[in-house]
This record gives sequence, C-alpha cells and structure tokens, in this order.
Amino acid sequence: MNQAPVIDCDIHPGVPDIPALLPYMSDYWQHSFVDRGLDGFDMMSYPLGAPITCRPDWRVPGERPGGSLGKMREHALDRFGLDLAICNPLTGGQVAVSESMGAAICSAVNDWIVEHWLDKEPRLRASIVVPPQSPTMAVEEIERLAGDRRFVQVLLPAACELMLGRSYYWPIYEAAVKHGLPIGIHAGSMYRYAPTSTGWPSHYLQDYISNNQLFEGQLLSLVSNGVFAKFPDLKFVFIESGVSWLPHFIWRAIKTWRGVRAEVPWVKQSPAEIIRANIRVTTQPFDAPDEAVVGRIVEEIDCDDMFLFSSDYPHWQFEGDAITPLGLSTSLLMKMRTDNPLATYPRLRETVS
Ligand code: ZN
Repeated sequence: MNQAPVIDCDIHPGVPDIPALLPYMSDYWQHSFVDRGLDGFDMMSYPLGAPITCRPDWRVPGERPGGSLGKMREHALDRFGLDLAICNPLTGGQVAVSESMGAAICSAVNDWIVEHWLDKEPRLRASIVVPPQSPTMAVEEIERLAGDRRFVQVLLPAACELMLGRSYYWPIYEAAVKHGLPIGIHAGSMYRYAPTSTGWPSHYLQDYISNNQLFEGQLLSLVSNGVFAKFPDLKFVFIESGVSWLPHFIWRAIKTWRGVRAEVPWVKQSPAEIIRANIRVTTQPFDAPDEAVVGRIVEEIDCDDMFLFSSDYPHWQFEGDAITPLGLSTSLLMKMRTDNPLATYPRLRETVS
C-alpha cells in the first residue's frame, strides 16, 4: 500500500432485490418473503432510474447502479487510484415498519456484502447496516459482526423514528465506542416523518434538497442532548450531507448556546468545538458553485480535520475526474484523502500500519 493511501469514505455497491438476499435469511424469513410475495425494498431516496442515482457513463445495461464489482473497479477504484473504499449499502431494510423484518434484511445485506464484495476485493471495507427500528437489534448486529475488522463503521439513515440525540439510541453508540466504530449518518430517511419541517414534499427534487435539514436537526439533537458529553470519543460521519450549511449553522449554534446554555449544563463546550472534534463530513456532494465559494466555506468552517474524501460512486455528483472540488489547498487535499479517514476510522489504521 502507498505511504499515503487514498481512502474513499462513501461508495455504494448496488444492493440487490429481496430474492438475491434470501440465501442470507432464516427459513422463517425466506418463507415469509416468498409466501407473502414481498419485494420492493429498494431505498426510496434513490429511485433506480433517477438521473442522480447513477452517472450516465457509469450505468451498465441490465445492472443496478453500482451492482458490478468489475465496473466499480474500472470506474472508481482503479480510475481514481483508491487504496481503500468504504461501502455504504443503502437498503430498504432500514425503512421497513417491522423491526424484525428490518433486522432480517439488514443482516442479509451485511452477509451479502462480505461474500460478494469484501471477500473479492481487498481494497473494500464496509459499514455495518443496522436496523434503526430497534436499538436492541442494532446492537446485536454490531456484536455479531464486530469481529470482522473489515467492518469499519455503523450506518444509520439521516432521519429515523426519533431524533438521534435521544438516549433511546445510546446503546448503539455505546456498542460503537466499544468496538472502535464511528457512526455514519447517510442522507436518507425512514419516512416516518416529512423530510422538511413544513410538510411532505411533492417531488423528488424537494426530497433530495431538503436532506440538509435532516442533518441540521440531527446535529442539534446530538449536541444538545449531550451525546458527546457521554461519548467524548465517538465520531459521527455525515455522509452525503453537503457542506455549505455548516458555517451559518455553527455561527447560530454558538450564538444561541452562549445565551441559553444554562438550559443544557451538560453542553460544557461551545457547539463549534464539539462539532469540530466529533463531526466529520464527506466531500461529495460539495454543494458550492465555484472555487471561491468552496474556499470561503472551508475557511469559515475553520477545521481541516472535518473533511473526508469521497466519490459517492455511482451517484452523479461530478463530471469526468473532478472528484475533488476546486478551491481546496494541497494540504487539505492530502489530509482529507489520507490523514482524516485514518484518524476517524480506527480500523483503517490496522490496514496501513
Ligand atoms: Zn452516498
């Protein structure tokens, strides 16, 4: 491996439909899905045919977006010179209303990732997909898989059934800390609530753009409920969250915290300090129009440690080889490709040391 490995923190293997996952399920669930004729657990945030779901030159006839390991090698791993890439499977198992069904699908996806991706490509790592429907079952899944050091993160969608700062979810965080796993929060929702604070959108356009509201709400919830006072070493990786909302969010959080901090005495540090210490963001999509604005946003966030390099393959976030936005300094590019992922994911350090 290179002295300074290039690490992609968000890559998406195309999760197959339920029939392909049946071999990884118990007899009960195999019969349940077949006898009841259940299918269609594709993640609704990314409709298979929507343009943003897959870059046109990365579409493979007859394949799901991201469904071919050979094409992932050609389009991303080899083309961008990636030494390691973290697979974040997006599955409707995290959306199912039944917690036991959700857990069955998530477990099947994790076992499928091992057999079809991790065992076949040494550059790949993966997040453990856990059922947010049940923190108890999520912890069981973390414990089941934590022994496989190729799992480097726990994955949740950006909107669950409760806000993520609530102590209901803390057993998941405790298990993550125990095993040296950050919590990845990927754009997407369980759709128990509208993804905007003003109601249900009419179009996919609204749904996709409004995801930054989900991240802002969750970030406030994590900070103000004292998650980082309880778990000071736990990192949350905001994946596909965009970046441009952070400067004004941080400013408002500092200003308001100074005025009302007596209400939350467990928040002992400024929210800005907490965010810079515990929150990481992936860099695709970097939602800024040009080099000057990108540079200004990075300057205002004022923490080079926060940025993690990502391609978001196969989602259509950039053209050609423009995988990193213009306007980033050489030192930041080096940090976000190598040093920051290694600092964020303890298990990756085992690979390169
Ligand atoms: Zn993504």
